Amino acid sequence: MAKIIDGKLISKQIKDELKEKVAALRAEGKEISLAVIQVGNDGASSVYVGNKKKACEYIGIKSLAYELPEETTEAELLELIGNLNNRADVNGILVQLPLPGHIDEDKVIKAIDPLKDVDGFHPQSVGALSIGQKGFVSCTPAGIIELIKRSGIDISGKECVVVGRSNIVGKPMAMLLLRENGTVTVCHSRTADLKAVTKRADILVVAIGKPKFITGEYVKDGAVVIDVGIHRMGVSESGKAILCGDVDYDDVEPIASAITPVPGGVGPMTIAMLMNNCVESVELQK
Ligand code: NDP
Repeated sequence: MAKIIDGKLISKQIKDELKEKVAALRAEGKEISLAVIQVGNDGASSVYVGNKKKACEYIGIKSLAYELPEETTEAELLELIGNLNNRADVNGILVQLPLPGHIDEDKVIKAIDPLKDVDGFHPQSVGALSIGQKGFVSCTPAGIIELIKRSGIDISGKECVVVGRSNIVGKPMAMLLLRENGTVTVCHSRTADLKAVTKRADILVVAIGKPKFITGEYVKDGAVVIDVGIHRMGVSESGKAILCGDVDYDDVEPIASAITPVPGGVGPMTIAMLMNNCVESVELQK
């Protein structure tokens, strides 16, 4: 029986720790604020933005909402980011992705001051991570490191395999595991014999975006399995969304020593680490 890594509980612990830090900063006269920009009204994005606002409220971070119409031009968005970069009372800037097709996402990410880049997507943040300098770290992989550590699992010297090489999950995940002294292998769609590689993993992180792709055949006995994937498979009779990950949970759970469920594993950690980055911004901006 695998230990279930409870992301809901761990994210709550982190948020409570942050709440205390924010209260202490406030007592010193320092208020933290996060600007959240959404362009258009994509349903999923609105849910994510709403959850971020709620988390800010819980922790005591002021959130400034910019809900811009779909037809906002790239120039208008860049101008807003420029203004927010210059405002001393704004600590973090987050642009909810994806943006409408007429706006160049890379240009927008690069326009954010790296000292306010709480999503950790700016090339300077990514570069800093890869050479071990201070900077913001992409929230989902940072959350996974917290999940592993707070579950009492040591990364140092372990064989770590990351499946997926996206800029927001796979690549920063590999860098973070390396920073923790794991021996890291990154797999992708061209990996010749995926099973042979994943079978070596003491810690297996899966971020491929394919429902239940990783079955027990891919997993070594006693491995720690982290499932980043999230897929909506339908709606239950009671109207709740049926979710699953990239890992076939029922098949893998009996083999693993520890595993993250979907939902309730990696998902809740992303927002907790965004809040953590907002709090850290105060230190970086000093
Ligand atoms: P991307 O689609 O950007 O990347 C998927 C990666 O998986 C690519 O590198 C791709 O390889 C690789 N891949 C695809 N098929 C295979 C295969 N058959 N074998 C090996 N590798 C394969 O996805 P993301 O990283 O953005 O997201 C991955 C999953 O995580 C999604 O389900 C997403 O919804 C979820 N997610 C969850 C978050 C959370 O907070 N819980 C946050 C972010 C994402 P190649 O590069 O060769 O194409």
